[in-house]
Amino acid sequence: MTAAILVKRIGHVFQQPQLLELALTHRSYSGKDNNERLEFLGDSLLNFIIGDTLFQRFPNAREGQLSRLRASLVKGDTLTKVARQLDLGPFLLLGPGELKSGGSRRDSILADCVEAIIGAIYLDAGLDVCKARVLEWFDPRIEGLTLEDTVKDNKTRLQEWLQAQKWALPTYNILDIEGASHSQYFVVECVVQQAGLSFRGEGGSRRQAEQMAAGLMLTALENGKSQS
Ligand code: MN
Repeated sequence: MTAAILVKRIGHVFQQPQLLELALTHRSYSGKDNNERLEFLGDSLLNFIIGDTLFQRFPNAREGQLSRLRASLVKGDTLTKVARQLDLGPFLLLGPGELKSGGSRRDSILADCVEAIIGAIYLDAGLDVCKARVLEWFDPRIEGLTLEDTVKDNKTRLQEWLQAQKWALPTYNILDIEGASHSQYFVVECVVQQAGLSFRGEGGSRRQAEQMAAGLMLTALENGKSQS
């Protein structure tokens, strides 16, 4: 029987406790009755619930921005943090081999388990209850999001990509500043010497313009890489 303390942390008392038990069961523990189908269901629900919430919360966001915000919330990293917050680790039902596994292997098992629990709550009590639980776990993270986050990580991602190739960091040059000081408009270029590439970005702040240029650069580099 699953401990009452876990039920309390999850915040849902199951009418069908066997669903929670199934959600905690890794395939290494049971090849037949494990959480993989619940994980599949929970993954779909999580995408929908987070998508719906972001849609309401950011009425001016474009599709691409909403996608990036959602991706930042439903990724494995975030799910692993939720799992740790719920302290799922001790309740996982794992086979003997997996009991010893640590690190990223364990992290992905925990992340999958959170998805499976979302699926289990939905089957047990329906969408409204499921949504309320999910939003409680994710709310602090959703609260902290701004539209800036969708552009913020372009520069970081470009930097990481370049570092992975052991290339020099990009340079950003201001090409033009238009308008009066309270409503300035920036045109910036991002240059990556090794690739012989430069892209322009524009925006209401230097940062915004740089983020746009970095995003274009990253797309070009990633595409070029997949062709080679
Ligand atoms: Mn998964």
